[in-house]
Amino acid sequence: MYTDLNPGKRVLMGPGPSDVHPRVLKAMSTPLVGHLDPDFLTIMNETREMLKEVFRTKNELTIALSGTGSAGMEACLVNLLEPDDKAVVCINGLFAERMADIVKRCGAEPVILPTEWGNIVEPEEVKKVLEKTSRVKLLAIVHAETSTGVRQPLEEISRLTKEAGVLFVVDAVTSLAGIPVETDKWKVDAIYSGTQKCLSCPPGLAPVSFSDRAIQSIAQRTSPIRSWYLDIQMLQSYWGKERFYHHTAPINMVYALREALRLVLEEGLEERFYRHQLHSKALVAGLEAMGLKMIAPLEYRLPELNAVYIPEGIDDVTVRKALLNEYGIEIGGGLGKFKGKAWRIGLMGYSCSKANVMLFLSALENILKTEKYAIPEHGISAAAEFYRNEN
Ligand SMILES: *Cc1c(COP(=O)(O)O)cnc(C)c1O
Repeated sequence: MYTDLNPGKRVLMGPGPSDVHPRVLKAMSTPLVGHLDPDFLTIMNETREMLKEVFRTKNELTIALSGTGSAGMEACLVNLLEPDDKAVVCINGLFAERMADIVKRCGAEPVILPTEWGNIVEPEEVKKVLEKTSRVKLLAIVHAETSTGVRQPLEEISRLTKEAGVLFVVDAVTSLAGIPVETDKWKVDAIYSGTQKCLSCPPGLAPVSFSDRAIQSIAQRTSPIRSWYLDIQMLQSYWGKERFYHHTAPINMVYALREALRLVLEEGLEERFYRHQLHSKALVAGLEAMGLKMIAPLEYRLPELNAVYIPEGIDDVTVRKALLNEYGIEIGGGLGKFKGKAWRIGLMGYSCSKANVMLFLSALENILKTEKYAIPEHGISAAAEFYRNEN
């Protein structure tokens, strides 16, 4: 017979999913109502209003798509692109590569701006590409590159897209509710996120927001949107006043997102950003005391995703297995050129706490000692001192 569901107890400190607040788990077990029930319509409306606050936008077309972050990515591109359109894709990590793949599947042409993984995309380079390429429909870029731990500044690049009359598409999957995301101020035309990173909700929904300019551009399409499920015009009629049946929204996931957003707004966005900075700095103080080196330069470092080089002579998988089996801690391995060379330590949403920083640093120190790595200084002492000085 099959046993009761009983996965191991874990502390989720990887690139997602992150730990989920008990209030969110409780909200998920709220009894179902029909997806067109007046009570559920109120819940959808409240979720939209809270999403607008978190995205810092007035965009009417702000909803949560049924699907993970990648569905948000696909939705933004498939609605805006028509066959033979050109899209500049700024690639400095894994997720932008995924964007380029989707652009091709839309029948459009990706114009790749390649950048070394671990670096930011330079506005100067964006300017050059936009100048030398004609008839560009949109520019797509990742705000928080989870594969490298790099935060991409967006203000200057936004200005360049406006000058060139190009739509601006932003991946905010790992940035939303972890670092400032300014949808309106940065004049973003289409932005998407996911529930499982800094929103600390299980994976399953993709918050998205489209500007009026983007909606106009979609209205002027001469060919049908190539996805039925992610057709934003039909989804707007479902989430909007008309309430046309499109598909059945995953009711309990919407409950979960509503509660997760309520938690974000109760804490306050600025307070939440500060908390991510604080615990990341403590973690980095600990890691550096132990002689480890961060990948991203301080200026562009993501607090919610701390990518660090694995010390010379230490085996990636051995350490991650020990973290999981002996301490119940999940972290991420490196991707692409960082495979086997880096660890990715997430401090996202509910996972971002002093207790987790201290647990992780002591666990890592013990494992590294077993692996005969000579630790110059104690990680937890350095982190504790950092916390003391912050108070
Ligand atoms: C996780 C992630 C995605 C994909 O989200 P899924 O929920 O895994 O579909 C896209 N972009 C970035 C930057 C991410 O970190």
